[in-house]
Amino acid sequence: MQHTFDIPTSINNMKPETIGLEEGPICPLPFTHNEVIVMGHGSGGKMSHDLIKKYFYSYFENELLLAGNDAAVINIGNATLAFSTDSHVVKPLFFPGGDIGRLAVCGTVNDVSMMGAVPLYLSAGFILEEGFEIITLSKILESMRTVAEEAGIQIVTGDTKVVQKNQADGIYINTTGVGLLYPGSNITGSRAQPGDAVILSGSIGEHGLAVLEARGELGFSSGIQSDVAPLNRLVRALIDAVPKDAVHVLRDPTRGGLATSLNEIAQQSRMGIIIDENKVTIQPAVRSVCELLGFDPMYVANEGKLICIVEEEFAHKALMAMHNTRYGENAAIIGYVTNQPQGRVLMTTTMGSTRILDMLSGEMLPRIC
Ligand code: MG
Repeated sequence: MQHTFDIPTSINNMKPETIGLEEGPICPLPFTHNEVIVMGHGSGGKMSHDLIKKYFYSYFENELLLAGNDAAVINIGNATLAFSTDSHVVKPLFFPGGDIGRLAVCGTVNDVSMMGAVPLYLSAGFILEEGFEIITLSKILESMRTVAEEAGIQIVTGDTKVVQKNQADGIYINTTGVGLLYPGSNITGSRAQPGDAVILSGSIGEHGLAVLEARGELGFSSGIQSDVAPLNRLVRALIDAVPKDAVHVLRDPTRGGLATSLNEIAQQSRMGIIIDENKVTIQPAVRSVCELLGFDPMYVANEGKLICIVEEEFAHKALMAMHNTRYGENAAIIGYVTNQPQGRVLMTTTMGSTRILDMLSGEMLPRIC
């Protein structure tokens, strides 16, 4: 089936180099003494990507890292594993729908799952501030235990460190996870192909706004709950429903939101992606709060949603399988992969026009995960 889209000529003719598709090896850059880390480097958007590419990639350059996926896929003996790590600094620690503990487990379970792997074991490292109440720590640990049980994974190793009062914000948690790849699956950000369907597993923007509300920054109660959830069973259901090779890309649109994750995939695959705004589900409360605060929900973080890029022929089967799971009931096809414009995401709006959907450029909501 062919999909035709009316792409404005000015967008279609853009050269890859104007949109950050670099060629050739990454060279270590000279150290610049006057550059400092700013909050925008933690946005998950363009500033985070630039920081990682410019410094981390140049120091740690290797093929596995440069694949730029949610987890590295590594071979050990006869096993192929997905391996990922994530640190959590969310403020406040408890928010509607979740807390730092649930987030720390789900963040890593989901990143491992996005490679088409079954997450099995997690490590958890805790940095605790002097004076932090044990009762609060216990609540967080209980939350981690509950969601680990739901996901069917075990936390099997860990670490605790304590820093002096005022040297941290109560608690920071790092988790690392390993999982076994489903035999035959080949899921990576660079595999999006023309004609592939783009499926989104549910509504967007809830997590970022729930954290914002917990900070008291809204000044009213919106009733929005974070979507933070483990997605491994959803991934299992959709992979089992289609030929193993048919799922090309999976990604959870966390920091930087849906727009940023789609841009990552477009750039990694050197493809265009076009989505239809009408197909993207946004809860009315999320839409209202975004309008009130001037946020674009396309850039607000999610912690329980995934993007699935799948061969068009199998998109309906994948969708049906997702609909039968707890966290995929509202999954929908929101768009398609196209040949052009390379590395760009376009959106046909509710008004009928087409606009470029860029990666998040600055910082919108700091410390949301
Ligand atoms: Mg991710």
